[in-house]
Amino acid sequence: MSKPVVSVRNLTVTYQIGHSLLGQNTYLNAINDVSLDIDRGSFFGLVGESGSGKTTLGRAILKAAPISAGHVTYHDGEVEYDLANISSSQLKDYRKRAQLIFQDPYAALSPRMTVRDIIAEPLEVMGLTKTREETDARVREIAAKCRLNLEHLRRFPHAFSGGQRQRISIARALVSGPKFIVADESVAALDVSIQADVLNLLKQLQDDLGLTFLFISHDLSVVAHICDHVAVMYLGRLVETAPTRQLFSGARHPYTKALFSAIPSLDPDDRGKAQKLEGEIPSPTDPPPGCKFNTRCPHAVDICRQEEPKLEHPGDGHEVACHRWRELFDMVPA
Ligand code: ADP
Ligand code: MG
Repeated sequence: MSKPVVSVRNLTVTYQIGHSLLGQNTYLNAINDVSLDIDRGSFFGLVGESGSGKTTLGRAILKAAPISAGHVTYHDGEVEYDLANISSSQLKDYRKRAQLIFQDPYAALSPRMTVRDIIAEPLEVMGLTKTREETDARVREIAAKCRLNLEHLRRFPHAFSGGQRQRISIARALVSGPKFIVADESVAALDVSIQADVLNLLKQLQDDLGLTFLFISHDLSVVAHICDHVAVMYLGRLVETAPTRQLFSGARHPYTKALFSAIPSLDPDDRGKAQKLEGEIPSPTDPPPGCKFNTRCPHAVDICRQEEPKLEHPGDGHEVACHRWRELFDMVPA
């Protein structure tokens, strides 16, 4: 097995969110002691409700959020960087290798630039091409891979639909030749009919260009459709991670179970059976003691309110942080 492209170890991201006149500051752990590996060539899904820390984790891996404790290591076979201790010249190089695809293709594209200039900009900013001909050739190459044609390159973003704009954003993210991509809610703003097109394009690009993806979504059904591995987050913690098929055939954490039961089934007989996840995610400034999910968990008992469960590694690649998972979901009938 080759080394993972991204290794996150005991990562904590802390934000200071308030000052008090008495000198007492308020802090929030957006990410709390998270460890995970993203293997080369994988489409790694990160799922959880809004506020669970997905964007912050993606940003920390891109060195765009503070690494307050722990480590993030990037390794693509050519370079290896310890992001907590990265030099400025390494960081410059890392920006070419690791890129973000934004959520909102409307906000992300400058309305006054042609599509050609939007896609070319990173090449110019990073100094990756020397002549206009070289830049144009690279822009055309990546545009074609993203199913944009020469005619499109001369136009302005307002002339395009949501799905086309997202393809322009994708081309811009890929033009520097990155190996690792964070796609943060990249289809959330699109109509369902367009989502599948963009997801298929991302998959195709992954194959063509040998990319590794961290695919962030609040929507477990989208993640399940495209990802080969899934990590589930709750209030800044990793609560479960497994190969997608394993997660589907037997989720172990009550939170993951609840996310699954909230997906409306495609089976018409099953419609209406989707259960809503009750209650609100607690505030990260005032997390409950014990398991962070205990305030909403139908199975919580005393220990869940007192002791925070650790992520267990039962040895089958399916990790879970729940005091009661074996008892609740792994019972072998007598
Ligand atoms: P998600 O992407 O899962 O919705 P986020 O990573 O955006 O979650 O946010 C996780 C938590 O961190 C939230 O409580 C959010 O308010 C807080 N947070 C995110 N960014 C900042 C920041 N720059 N400063 C302070 N708090 C932040
Ligand atoms: Mg987010």
